[in-house]
Amino acid sequence: MKLSLAYASISLSSLLVLSTLSCGGSGSVNTGGTGMDYHSPRESADYNSHQATGASAHDLLSADKYQSVVIEIQAMQGFAPSARAQAALKDFITARVNKPGGVTLVVDPPIPAQNKGAYTLNDVGMIEAANRQSYTTGTQMVTYFLFLDGASTEDDAQNGRKILAYAYQNTSMAVFEKTIQSISGSLPGQASLTTVETTVVEHEFGHILGLVNLNPGTAIQTPHQDTPHGNHCDVTNCLMYYSVNTSDVVANLLSFGGNPPVLDAQCLADLRANGGK
Ligand SMILES: [Zn+2]
Ligand SMILES: [Zn+2]
Repeated sequence: MKLSLAYASISLSSLLVLSTLSCGGSGSVNTGGTGMDYHSPRESADYNSHQATGASAHDLLSADKYQSVVIEIQAMQGFAPSARAQAALKDFITARVNKPGGVTLVVDPPIPAQNKGAYTLNDVGMIEAANRQSYTTGTQMVTYFLFLDGASTEDDAQNGRKILAYAYQNTSMAVFEKTIQSISGSLPGQASLTTVETTVVEHEFGHILGLVNLNPGTAIQTPHQDTPHGNHCDVTNCLMYYSVNTSDVVANLLSFGGNPPVLDAQCLADLRANGGK
């Protein structure tokens, strides 16, 4: 799931065995058939971290089994999100999940920048497997954000639409921080870096929580899925509106006074029905 106003889904079929990755990530980076092994020796045996985006929604939202959540933030040198965006993300998640053990944000030491320019989904999956430190085990859920020093190979140069981030597995998200830095700032017509970062990471986490109508994920309680744009909300000022994961989001942010959008009542009701608060 990307943040953009006019972006529907990206086809990764030419890159992967899986068919498509919609914004919100119904695709998953996985091993099957590719001959490549993205699994990490640090993965626990008791939880599958290679499921489709949305598959861990109930585990994250409810306290049925998992009592706490760790948000692992891993960034290439020089491309970590701002402290304010990190704090906003933690608050956003804490407000939605029923976790007696709380929500903890862990920022890893930086990993080396690769200066690759643009990254494929395969690249992202391999970097995660090589570097991610923590995985779900016992009663603790772990979700993972990777911040990259480059762009996505799925950027659409023709119409200038750039991918800012996507969720690509049940607990995994990639953020193209260099692209975010390039489209944000203090120039006229730009939204602040912190605002764009906050909006993007919260939107992607919304997909990890199963929005909108991801299956497996979080079923809609009322009809508000923007079906032509995949797993997004049809409420234009909702965090889960489809433009939020591409560069088109900036115009959206500015039209809402420069503040990150929040979840509308229907998306909130969906999360509550699936064990959230
Ligand atoms: Zn999205
Ligand atoms: Zn919504």
